[in-house]
Amino acid sequence: MDEPQTSRDEHGMRLALDQALNARLVGEVPVGAVILREGQIIATGYNRPITTHDPTAHAELVALRHAAQLLENYRLPDCELYVTLEPCAMCAMALLHARFKRVVFGAWDPKTGAAGSVLNVFGEARLNHQTEVVGGVMAETCGRLLKDFFAERRAQQKSEQVAARAATADLPVAVDWADEEGLAKDDLLPLPEVEVMSGLGALDSALASFAPLLDEAPDRGDAFEVRAAQGSDSAGP
Ligand SMILES: [Zn+2]
Repeated sequence: MDEPQTSRDEHGMRLALDQALNARLVGEVPVGAVILREGQIIATGYNRPITTHDPTAHAELVALRHAAQLLENYRLPDCELYVTLEPCAMCAMALLHARFKRVVFGAWDPKTGAAGSVLNVFGEARLNHQTEVVGGVMAETCGRLLKDFFAERRAQQKSEQVAARAATADLPVAVDWADEEGLAKDDLLPLPEVEVMSGLGALDSALASFAPLLDEAPDRGDAFEVRAAQGSDSAGP
């Protein structure tokens, strides 16, 4: 890869990283995407399946839908897509259907990556179309964003669990005991503090709604790998 192409790819990835930060702001797993045509931004997207109640709302597909509508074409052969995380199988197939010229991604995803990590959809010779893929561009930055996000999430979950345990374990017992002893309600546990701890606002609600996924893959963020940039020919686990 020549130097100009490398810096073009890093520029595209920085734009995608900006989108990933948008995802983080609304409590979604921070993955961002941008679609360029001849260096011009056509569309952007960030991961938002929780906030939109749409399991297909991955960053790539959000951007892809915008681009296709803007260009009024279901095929985008002149476009390049930059995404901060290796695409999953769903997104990889959608990008092949759209006939993207190139796909560039940041961190590798050894759990669901379909550009060489788990599957290699882009390099599958039996499919009727192949797309050039470059992986590992600014992989450390892209992966760090995800790792930090999951680490913060785990810490927050822990403090919420502590608050929830305090609320469920202490309050009923205190009420029963208090009733038996004939104490006034003012003598009970400080309930308002518990409410404050478990109700920090809309963002926290969005974060909490994602908690079950973390139970399934508590170390997902730690698994993102950093490898040297490589093309589709040599992409592989
Ligand atoms: Zn996807």
